[in-house]
Amino acid sequence: TVFVLGSINLDAVARVDDLPRPGETVAGRSLELFLGGKGANQAVAAARMGAPTRLMGAVGQDDSGASLKTKLMGYGVQVSDVLELADAPTGQAHVWVSASGENMIVVTAGANALVTPQQVAGATLEGQRILLCQLETPPTAIEALFRAGAAKGALRILNAAPALPQGAALFPLTDILILNQTELATYAKLDHEPVRLEEVSLAARKLMSRPDQTIIVTLGATGVAGVRRDEAFLVEGRKVKAIDTVGAGDCFCGALAAALAANMDLRDAVEMANAAAALSVQKSGAAPSMPNRREVEAFLER
Ligand code: ADP
Repeated sequence: TVFVLGSINLDAVARVDDLPRPGETVAGRSLELFLGGKGANQAVAAARMGAPTRLMGAVGQDDSGASLKTKLMGYGVQVSDVLELADAPTGQAHVWVSASGENMIVVTAGANALVTPQQVAGATLEGQRILLCQLETPPTAIEALFRAGAAKGALRILNAAPALPQGAALFPLTDILILNQTELATYAKLDHEPVRLEEVSLAARKLMSRPDQTIIVTLGATGVAGVRRDEAFLVEGRKVKAIDTVGAGDCFCGALAAALAANMDLRDAVEMANAAAALSVQKSGAAPSMPNRREVEAFLER
Protein backbone atom coordinates (compact mmCIF):
# COMPACT_ATOMS: atom_id res chain seq x y z
CA THR A 1 0.00 0.00 0.00
CA VAL A 2 0.97 3.61 -0.55
CA PHE A 3 0.01 5.87 2.35
CA VAL A 4 0.01 9.54 1.37
CA LEU A 5 -0.18 12.35 3.91
CA GLY A 6 -0.78 15.57 2.05
CA SER A 7 -2.79 18.49 0.80
CA ILE A 8 -6.15 18.50 -0.93
CA ASN A 9 -7.15 21.66 -2.79
CA LEU A 10 -9.78 22.96 -5.11
CA ASP A 11 -7.86 24.55 -7.98
CA ALA A 12 -9.78 27.35 -9.72
CA VAL A 13 -8.10 28.31 -12.99
CA ALA A 14 -9.31 31.48 -14.71
CA ARG A 15 -8.00 32.52 -18.12
CA VAL A 16 -7.68 36.25 -18.80
CA ASP A 17 -6.31 38.31 -21.71
CA ASP A 18 -4.06 40.35 -19.42
CA LEU A 19 -3.44 39.86 -15.69
CA PRO A 20 -5.19 42.56 -13.61
CA ARG A 21 -3.17 45.33 -11.93
CA PRO A 22 -3.87 46.15 -8.24
CA GLY A 23 -7.36 47.68 -8.02
CA GLU A 24 -8.32 46.62 -11.53
CA THR A 25 -11.16 44.24 -12.47
CA VAL A 26 -10.84 42.23 -15.66
CA ALA A 27 -13.25 39.83 -17.34
CA GLY A 28 -12.15 36.19 -17.35
CA ARG A 29 -12.33 34.15 -20.55
CA SER A 30 -13.02 30.85 -18.80
CA LEU A 31 -13.06 29.18 -15.40
CA GLU A 32 -12.19 25.56 -14.69
CA LEU A 33 -12.31 23.78 -11.33
CA PHE A 34 -9.93 20.90 -10.64
CA LEU A 35 -8.98 18.54 -7.86
CA GLY A 36 -5.51 19.68 -6.78
CA GLY A 37 -2.99 19.86 -3.98
CA LYS A 38 0.26 17.91 -4.07
CA GLY A 39 -1.04 15.22 -1.72
CA ALA A 40 -4.19 14.57 -3.74
CA ASN A 41 -2.32 14.65 -7.06
CA GLN A 42 0.33 12.20 -5.87
CA ALA A 43 -2.29 9.87 -4.39
CA VAL A 44 -4.18 9.87 -7.70
CA ALA A 45 -0.95 9.10 -9.58
CA ALA A 46 -0.16 6.17 -7.26
CA ALA A 47 -3.69 4.77 -7.48
CA ARG A 48 -3.72 5.06 -11.30
CA MET A 49 -0.49 3.06 -11.35
CA GLY A 50 -2.33 0.26 -9.58
CA ALA A 51 -1.17 0.64 -5.97
CA PRO A 52 -3.79 0.41 -3.21
CA THR A 53 -3.57 4.04 -2.00
CA ARG A 54 -4.75 5.76 1.18
CA LEU A 55 -4.74 9.53 1.53
CA MET A 56 -4.67 11.29 4.90
CA GLY A 57 -5.45 14.99 5.06
CA ALA A 58 -8.19 17.49 5.77
CA VAL A 59 -10.82 19.47 3.91
CA GLY A 60 -13.47 21.87 5.24
CA GLN A 61 -17.07 21.00 6.03
CA ASP A 62 -18.19 22.50 2.74
CA ASP A 63 -19.39 21.55 -0.73
CA SER A 64 -15.96 21.59 -2.31
CA GLY A 65 -14.55 19.33 0.41
CA ALA A 66 -17.25 16.74 -0.14
CA SER A 67 -16.93 16.88 -3.91
CA LEU A 68 -13.13 16.57 -3.84
CA LYS A 69 -13.44 13.44 -1.67
CA THR A 70 -15.89 11.99 -4.19
CA LYS A 71 -13.47 12.78 -7.03
CA LEU A 72 -10.61 11.10 -5.15
CA MET A 73 -12.71 7.99 -4.62
CA GLY A 74 -13.48 7.99 -8.35
CA TYR A 75 -9.73 7.69 -8.94
CA GLY A 76 -9.59 4.74 -6.54
CA VAL A 77 -8.02 6.60 -3.60
CA GLN A 78 -9.18 5.58 -0.09
CA VAL A 79 -10.27 8.72 1.75
CA SER A 80 -11.45 7.46 5.14
CA ASP A 81 -8.47 9.28 6.72
CA VAL A 82 -9.50 12.63 5.20
CA LEU A 83 -11.15 14.69 7.95
CA GLU A 84 -13.88 17.25 7.26
CA LEU A 85 -13.05 20.06 9.67
CA ALA A 86 -15.52 22.71 10.84
CA ASP A 87 -12.81 25.27 11.67
CA ALA A 88 -11.47 26.03 8.20
CA PRO A 89 -12.55 25.96 4.57
CA THR A 90 -11.22 23.49 2.03
CA GLY A 91 -7.85 24.62 0.69
CA GLN A 92 -7.97 26.45 -2.60
CA ALA A 93 -5.53 27.57 -5.28
CA HIS A 94 -6.66 30.54 -7.36
CA VAL A 95 -4.77 30.57 -10.61
CA TRP A 96 -4.92 33.30 -13.25
CA VAL A 97 -3.32 32.61 -16.59
CA SER A 98 -2.87 35.35 -19.19
CA ALA A 99 -3.02 34.91 -22.95
CA SER A 100 0.79 35.17 -23.02
CA GLY A 101 1.04 32.31 -20.52
CA GLU A 102 2.09 34.35 -17.46
CA ASN A 103 0.36 33.39 -14.24
CA MET A 104 -0.45 34.62 -10.75
CA ILE A 105 -1.36 32.10 -8.06
CA VAL A 106 -2.71 32.44 -4.53
CA VAL A 107 -2.88 29.28 -2.43
CA THR A 108 -4.90 29.32 0.79
CA ALA A 109 -4.09 26.25 2.86
CA GLY A 110 -7.38 26.28 4.80
CA ALA A 111 -8.02 22.90 6.39
CA ASN A 112 -4.68 21.53 5.13
CA ALA A 113 -2.92 23.66 7.75
CA LEU A 114 -4.91 22.01 10.54
CA VAL A 115 -3.61 18.47 10.08
CA THR A 116 -1.97 17.58 13.40
CA PRO A 117 0.31 14.93 14.89
CA GLN A 118 -2.77 13.76 16.83
CA GLN A 119 -4.61 13.00 13.58
CA VAL A 120 -1.61 10.97 12.43
CA ALA A 121 -1.44 9.15 15.78
CA GLY A 122 -5.05 8.07 15.29
CA ALA A 123 -4.34 6.22 12.04
CA THR A 124 -3.60 2.53 11.82
CA LEU A 125 -0.30 2.18 9.98
CA GLU A 126 -0.31 -1.62 10.08
CA GLY A 127 0.74 -2.95 6.67
CA GLN A 128 1.52 0.51 5.21
CA ARG A 129 4.90 -0.15 3.57
CA ILE A 130 5.37 3.11 1.70
CA LEU A 131 4.76 6.55 3.23
CA LEU A 132 4.73 9.60 0.92
CA CYS A 133 4.58 13.26 2.05
CA GLN A 134 5.06 16.76 0.63
CA LEU A 135 5.40 20.11 2.40
CA GLU A 136 1.86 21.46 1.96
CA THR A 137 0.97 19.76 5.26
CA PRO A 138 2.40 20.91 8.64
CA PRO A 139 5.91 19.42 9.16
CA THR A 140 4.93 18.43 12.73
CA ALA A 141 2.37 16.00 11.29
CA ILE A 142 4.88 14.62 8.77
CA GLU A 143 7.41 14.11 11.55
CA ALA A 144 4.84 12.17 13.59
CA LEU A 145 4.04 9.95 10.59
CA PHE A 146 7.70 9.30 9.74
CA ARG A 147 8.57 8.44 13.34
CA ALA A 148 5.61 6.08 13.66
CA GLY A 149 6.38 4.56 10.25
CA ALA A 150 10.05 3.98 11.04
CA ALA A 151 9.06 1.93 14.06
CA LYS A 152 7.03 -0.30 11.72
CA GLY A 153 9.75 -0.58 9.07
CA ALA A 154 7.97 1.53 6.44
CA LEU A 155 9.86 3.28 3.64
CA ARG A 156 9.58 7.07 4.05
CA ILE A 157 9.51 9.19 0.92
CA LEU A 158 9.54 12.99 1.19
CA ASN A 159 8.93 15.28 -1.77
CA ALA A 160 10.24 18.44 -0.08
CA ALA A 161 8.08 20.74 -2.19
CA PRO A 162 7.46 23.60 -2.02
CA ALA A 163 10.94 24.42 -0.66
CA LEU A 164 10.49 25.49 2.98
CA PRO A 165 13.22 26.20 5.55
CA GLN A 166 11.51 23.86 8.06
CA GLY A 167 11.53 21.08 5.49
CA ALA A 168 15.22 20.29 5.95
CA ALA A 169 14.61 19.19 9.54
CA LEU A 170 12.68 16.22 8.12
CA PHE A 171 15.55 15.00 5.92
CA PRO A 172 17.16 12.80 8.61
CA LEU A 173 13.81 10.96 8.98
CA THR A 174 13.56 10.40 5.21
CA ASP A 175 14.68 7.33 3.25
CA ILE A 176 14.07 8.74 -0.23
CA LEU A 177 14.12 12.50 -0.76
CA ILE A 178 12.66 13.83 -4.02
CA LEU A 179 13.47 17.35 -5.22
CA ASN A 180 13.30 19.25 -8.49
CA GLN A 181 16.24 21.42 -9.62
CA THR A 182 14.86 24.60 -8.05
CA GLU A 183 14.29 22.91 -4.71
CA LEU A 184 17.74 21.30 -4.80
CA ALA A 185 19.31 24.73 -5.41
CA THR A 186 17.31 26.24 -2.54
CA TYR A 187 18.07 23.56 0.05
CA ALA A 188 21.73 23.24 -0.98
CA LYS A 189 22.02 27.07 -1.00
CA LEU A 190 23.34 27.28 -4.55
CA ASP A 191 23.13 30.49 -6.58
CA HIS A 192 22.08 28.60 -9.71
CA GLU A 193 20.19 25.44 -10.62
CA PRO A 194 22.54 22.48 -11.13
CA VAL A 195 22.20 20.82 -14.54
CA ARG A 196 24.96 18.26 -15.13
CA LEU A 197 24.90 14.98 -13.20
CA GLU A 198 28.19 15.77 -11.41
CA GLU A 199 26.82 19.10 -10.18
CA VAL A 200 23.51 17.55 -9.19
CA SER A 201 25.13 14.73 -7.25
CA LEU A 202 27.56 17.08 -5.50
CA ALA A 203 24.67 19.29 -4.36
CA ALA A 204 22.51 16.31 -3.40
CA ARG A 205 25.30 14.80 -1.29
CA LYS A 206 25.47 18.07 0.68
CA LEU A 207 21.91 17.33 1.80
CA MET A 208 22.47 13.68 2.61
CA SER A 209 22.01 13.19 6.33
CA ARG A 210 22.45 9.40 6.46
CA PRO A 211 24.67 7.02 4.50
CA ASP A 212 21.70 4.86 3.48
CA GLN A 213 19.70 7.72 2.02
CA THR A 214 18.66 8.14 -1.62
CA ILE A 215 18.12 11.54 -3.20
CA ILE A 216 16.18 11.74 -6.43
CA VAL A 217 16.34 14.96 -8.45
CA THR A 218 13.85 15.52 -11.25
CA LEU A 219 15.37 17.47 -14.13
CA GLY A 220 12.34 18.32 -16.28
CA ALA A 221 12.70 17.18 -19.90
CA THR A 222 16.30 16.07 -19.15
CA GLY A 223 15.03 13.25 -16.95
CA VAL A 224 15.85 12.16 -13.42
CA ALA A 225 19.04 11.80 -11.37
CA GLY A 226 19.38 9.27 -8.56
CA VAL A 227 22.08 9.90 -5.97
CA ARG A 228 23.26 7.56 -3.25
CA ARG A 229 26.38 7.70 -1.11
CA ASP A 230 28.58 5.95 -3.63
CA GLU A 231 26.50 5.91 -6.78
CA ALA A 232 24.86 8.46 -9.08
CA PHE A 233 22.79 7.60 -12.14
CA LEU A 234 20.83 9.46 -14.76
CA VAL A 235 17.63 8.22 -16.37
CA GLU A 236 17.10 10.22 -19.52
CA GLY A 237 13.84 12.03 -20.09
CA ARG A 238 11.48 10.49 -22.63
CA LYS A 239 11.09 12.48 -25.83
CA VAL A 240 7.51 13.71 -25.87
CA LYS A 241 5.61 16.80 -26.96
CA ALA A 242 4.82 18.66 -23.73
CA ILE A 243 1.38 20.29 -23.58
CA ASP A 244 1.12 21.04 -19.84
CA THR A 245 3.86 20.25 -17.32
CA VAL A 246 1.73 21.18 -14.27
CA GLY A 247 1.66 18.12 -12.06
CA ALA A 248 4.62 16.36 -13.72
CA GLY A 249 6.51 16.28 -10.43
CA ASP A 250 3.44 14.99 -8.59
CA CYS A 251 2.94 12.27 -11.18
CA PHE A 252 6.58 11.25 -10.79
CA CYS A 253 6.35 11.01 -6.98
CA GLY A 254 3.09 9.04 -6.94
CA ALA A 255 4.23 6.66 -9.68
CA LEU A 256 7.59 6.09 -7.95
CA ALA A 257 5.83 5.21 -4.68
CA ALA A 258 3.50 2.82 -6.53
CA ALA A 259 6.40 1.10 -8.31
CA LEU A 260 8.28 0.67 -5.02
CA ALA A 261 5.10 -0.69 -3.41
CA ALA A 262 5.07 -3.29 -6.22
CA ASN A 263 8.58 -4.34 -5.09
CA MET A 264 10.44 -2.91 -8.08
CA ASP A 265 14.05 -1.99 -7.38
CA LEU A 266 14.92 1.70 -7.24
CA ARG A 267 16.36 2.03 -10.74
CA ASP A 268 13.39 0.28 -12.41
CA ALA A 269 10.96 2.31 -10.30
CA VAL A 270 12.64 5.55 -11.42
CA GLU A 271 12.42 4.41 -15.08
CA MET A 272 8.73 3.70 -14.66
CA ALA A 273 7.98 7.00 -12.87
CA ASN A 274 9.98 8.92 -15.49
CA ALA A 275 7.84 7.33 -18.21
CA ALA A 276 4.62 8.02 -16.29
CA ALA A 277 5.57 11.69 -15.82
CA ALA A 278 6.46 12.04 -19.52
CA LEU A 279 3.00 10.72 -20.42
CA SER A 280 1.40 13.16 -17.97
CA VAL A 281 2.90 16.25 -19.67
CA GLN A 282 1.14 15.29 -22.90
CA LYS A 283 -2.27 16.03 -21.32
CA SER A 284 -3.54 19.12 -19.53
CA GLY A 285 -4.60 19.27 -15.89
CA ALA A 286 -2.88 17.54 -12.98
CA ALA A 287 -5.08 14.66 -11.75
CA PRO A 288 -6.80 14.05 -15.13
CA SER A 289 -3.38 13.73 -16.82
CA MET A 290 -2.06 10.89 -14.64
CA PRO A 291 -1.57 7.77 -16.81
CA ASN A 292 -2.51 4.27 -15.69
CA ARG A 293 -0.12 1.36 -15.38
CA ARG A 294 -1.10 -0.23 -18.69
CA GLU A 295 -0.41 3.00 -20.59
CA VAL A 296 2.99 3.35 -18.91
CA GLU A 297 3.98 -0.25 -19.62
CA ALA A 298 2.97 0.08 -23.26
CA PHE A 299 4.98 3.32 -23.50
CA LEU A 300 8.07 1.68 -21.93
CA GLU A 301 7.93 -1.15 -24.48
CA ARG A 302 7.87 1.19 -27.47
P1 ADP B 1 8.29 19.78 -11.34
O1 ADP B 1 6.98 19.47 -11.98
O2 ADP B 1 8.30 19.55 -9.88
O3 ADP B 1 8.89 21.09 -11.72
P2 ADP B 1 10.06 18.49 -13.25
O4 ADP B 1 9.82 19.63 -14.17
O5 ADP B 1 11.46 18.13 -12.94
O6 ADP B 1 9.31 18.65 -11.87
O7 ADP B 1 9.33 17.21 -13.88
C1 ADP B 1 9.20 15.99 -13.20
C2 ADP B 1 9.47 14.83 -14.13
O8 ADP B 1 8.48 14.85 -15.18
C3 ADP B 1 10.79 14.86 -14.86
O9 ADP B 1 11.83 14.34 -14.07
C4 ADP B 1 10.49 13.99 -16.08
O10 ADP B 1 10.49 12.62 -15.71
C5 ADP B 1 9.06 14.41 -16.40
N1 ADP B 1 9.01 15.54 -17.35
C6 ADP B 1 8.79 16.84 -17.09
N2 ADP B 1 8.82 17.60 -18.20
C7 ADP B 1 9.04 16.75 -19.22
C8 ADP B 1 9.17 16.89 -20.64
N3 ADP B 1 9.06 18.09 -21.25
N4 ADP B 1 9.42 15.77 -21.37
C9 ADP B 1 9.53 14.55 -20.80
N5 ADP B 1 9.41 14.35 -19.47
C10 ADP B 1 9.17 15.43 -18.68
